[in-house]
Amino acid sequence: MTDLDGLYRHAHGTRVVVIGGGIGGLVAAREFAKVGMVVTVLEAGDRLGGAIRGGEVAGLELDLGAESFATRGGHVRALVDELGLGDAVVEPDRAGAWVAGLPGGRAEPLPKGGVLGIPANPFAEDVRRVIGWGGAWRAYLDRLRPPLTIGHEHSLGRLVESRLGSAVLDRLVAPVTTGVYSARPHDIDVDAAAPGLNAALTRAGSLTGAVAELTAARQGKAPGSAVLGLAGGMGRLVAALESELASAGVEIRTGTPVASLERAAGGWLVGAARDGEPEGAGLTPPPAEGVEPSDLDGERSLFADVVLVATEEAAARRLLAPHIEGLAAEAPLPGPAVDIVTLVLEAPELDAAPRGTGVLTVPGSSRAKALTHVTAKWAWVRERAAGRHVVRVSFGTQDEAPATSRLDRDEVAELALAEAAGLLGVPLRRRQLLGARLERFAQSQPASRVGHRDETERTRALLASTPGIGAVGAWLAGTGLAQVVPDAIAEADRVRRAALFG
Ligand SMILES: Cc1cc2nc3c(=O)[nH]c(=O)nc-3n(C[C@H](O)[C@H](O)[C@H](O)COP(=O)(O)OP(=O)(O)OC[C@H]3O[C@@H](n4cnc5c(N)ncnc54)[C@H](O)[C@@H]3O)c2cc1C
Repeated sequence: MTDLDGLYRHAHGTRVVVIGGGIGGLVAAREFAKVGMVVTVLEAGDRLGGAIRGGEVAGLELDLGAESFATRGGHVRALVDELGLGDAVVEPDRAGAWVAGLPGGRAEPLPKGGVLGIPANPFAEDVRRVIGWGGAWRAYLDRLRPPLTIGHEHSLGRLVESRLGSAVLDRLVAPVTTGVYSARPHDIDVDAAAPGLNAALTRAGSLTGAVAELTAARQGKAPGSAVLGLAGGMGRLVAALESELASAGVEIRTGTPVASLERAAGGWLVGAARDGEPEGAGLTPPPAEGVEPSDLDGERSLFADVVLVATEEAAARRLLAPHIEGLAAEAPLPGPAVDIVTLVLEAPELDAAPRGTGVLTVPGSSRAKALTHVTAKWAWVRERAAGRHVVRVSFGTQDEAPATSRLDRDEVAELALAEAAGLLGVPLRRRQLLGARLERFAQSQPASRVGHRDETERTRALLASTPGIGAVGAWLAGTGLAQVVPDAIAEADRVRRAALFG
């Protein structure tokens, strides 16, 4: 028998349980299946995909959660191509978004260019319309003030406020960080959210100069959209992964919330919650001595040589903490709760896309944090909607529970409709509403939060020193498919190597 035969047999004899069937878990499961490991995916919900969630509203099949992927790094695109979905890749409309909640209730197009809303030229017409002459002069002081000799500020909010003033901070940067990360600029780490900005600051001596340098470098590259989508919805990515996993012999069990993880002879016992039992209750006892660790009672607990935890942060910590010394069972700071209300409207007044592809808001100016005009943004939805309009209104940030959290279904629809009308600057009546659907999400802390990187590095080091276990997902990799996908591939590879080569 050659070494390769031995390796093959070893891989085929290695049982892997992946806990959580979001994109992180599915991508990791695919990596294990590639080398012939025996893989089971346990998903708490009744469907796979996690924050990639499709569903029907007024007869239209739509993305209700994640709707696009960032092109950064090319990892998601590569996965999409490998799964045979390359032909379905689509670009969003280039009209761009607006910012609402400016003084006097105004809304203006979000200036083009810039970095996280920070402009290169405060006097540019599109920038000045948002921050006013006063804001533009204040921001211009950045060029006159003593040059920054070393860019080393961690907090994006403090950096922008001190160099450019509060108008740039509140009206340009805060809408972007709140809309994208659900977080305030003060909590965002400059190096994580805008790599290269601090170094450019050191070279340019001013913040606007640094932004000018970075945007000029960007323009030198081939033009292309920063995000892409899939015609038919991001749910197609999940469906393609599911079907590939099924053909590779991966067992997928939905409706199976994992409540416990116990050390067992040479591996792990993964225990599912009993019916009606809350997740986290009812630990499965470890196998009695001499009992061959196997699929113990067939349903409730499962033996694994290797476990990969791919849930959201709260469940992941609860499962991992008892086995990883130094890992806290509770998240240092829980991530924001986000409610997305998708509305289907009979509203010809929206045909002209009055606010481009969507609206970000000045924090505190409205009850919604952002809006996407889906039929303006994605041609495939426009075609499917056949004259109707689809609008997504999002609620909830790090500092504020969603305004929809305590409302009943009708009240949610009323509020979302009123917010949509306000943000789009168009009156919308109840009779124009053909359908409304609320979806709730628990988001992870953005990877770009100040201090997050150190915490994550510590957690990864602790995981790496615990044999037979790994963890993936947005709480470690950062929010977004462009972060979660490559990280899941890398972590599965680390765990796979450790299992095969020791
Ligand atoms: C509303 C919204 C919109 C977004 N839009 C975009 C976008 O357009 N583009 C983009 O790139 N990113 C977007 N994101 C971010 C992106 O969707 C996420 O970062 C990514 O999908 C997270 O994947 P994940 O596998 O880490 O976690 P999740 O998708 O959260 O999956 C975790 C899975 O684990 C399961 N689980 C939890 N506990 C247990 C348990 N005890 N036992 C078994 N299973 C369990 C859950 O049911 C879930 O299916 C969006 C996020 C949200 C919330």
